Amino acid sequence: MRTPIVAGNWKMNKTLAEARELVAALRAELTRIAAEGTVQIVLCPPFISLPQVAEMVKGTPLHAGAQNMFWEVKGAYTGEIAPTMLNELCDYVILGHSERRQYFGETDETVNKKVKAALAHHLKPIVCVGENLAQNEAGQTQAVVSTQVRGAFKDLARDDAASIVVAYEPVWAIGTGKAASGAGANAVIGLHIRGTLAELYGEATAQAIRVQYGGSVTPKNVAEFFTQPDIDGALVGGASLVAADFIAIAQAARERALRAA
Ligand code: PEP
Repeated sequence: MRTPIVAGNWKMNKTLAEARELVAALRAELTRIAAEGTVQIVLCPPFISLPQVAEMVKGTPLHAGAQNMFWEVKGAYTGEIAPTMLNELCDYVILGHSERRQYFGETDETVNKKVKAALAHHLKPIVCVGENLAQNEAGQTQAVVSTQVRGAFKDLARDDAASIVVAYEPVWAIGTGKAASGAGANAVIGLHIRGTLAELYGEATAQAIRVQYGGSVTPKNVAEFFTQPDIDGALVGGASLVAADFIAIAQAARERALRAA
């Protein structure tokens, strides 16, 4: 059985003071939800708030995560953050988010370098894949997600692959309020993402790898995703900035895990 994982991607939001306030509002309730170990919860603030958020979740079952990372460990890479800096602070790192691909030139090749660097430095990657609207409308979803999965997992051994979390995030659903349908997301994840992973690593490993859905998840629509057999939690953007909303989504993941037990 796969443990559901709910991660909040704060993107470029919250000052230091606001980040402190949000974690203070989340911490007690999320700790209660994650305490039995039925669900994992990750908070991914901007880099600048990461030390503070990591400190605030220390000693709780909650995890901190980063939103990006460079693949080198040190050197003349102005503005970048190394895996050896992150692994002192957090357990997870989001890699290949569509906004990184769209605005910052991230490619399947750079995502793969980052995945390898993260794993080499004991960080768990959350690898984002997903088609944009034009690709969706052109019937290219399968080809796009399969290529992105193959790119991100290139040359990875089975054990390393099994520790990765994949987030299926159709680009047209991110921040738009137009979420995919539960059944539609489940089909892409089950057939195309797990299907590709099965071709690479075999069915058992494909079944062990957790795959989240992301794209306009809210407390209102979350049940639609968490009743699907292939969806193992959510990567949450906008709703992770509102304490009550993120708590409700985490609670829904816990209920899903308890139902499956
Ligand atoms: C995201 O940023 O990964 C995301 C899914 O955003 P939103 O929930 O706001 O669509």
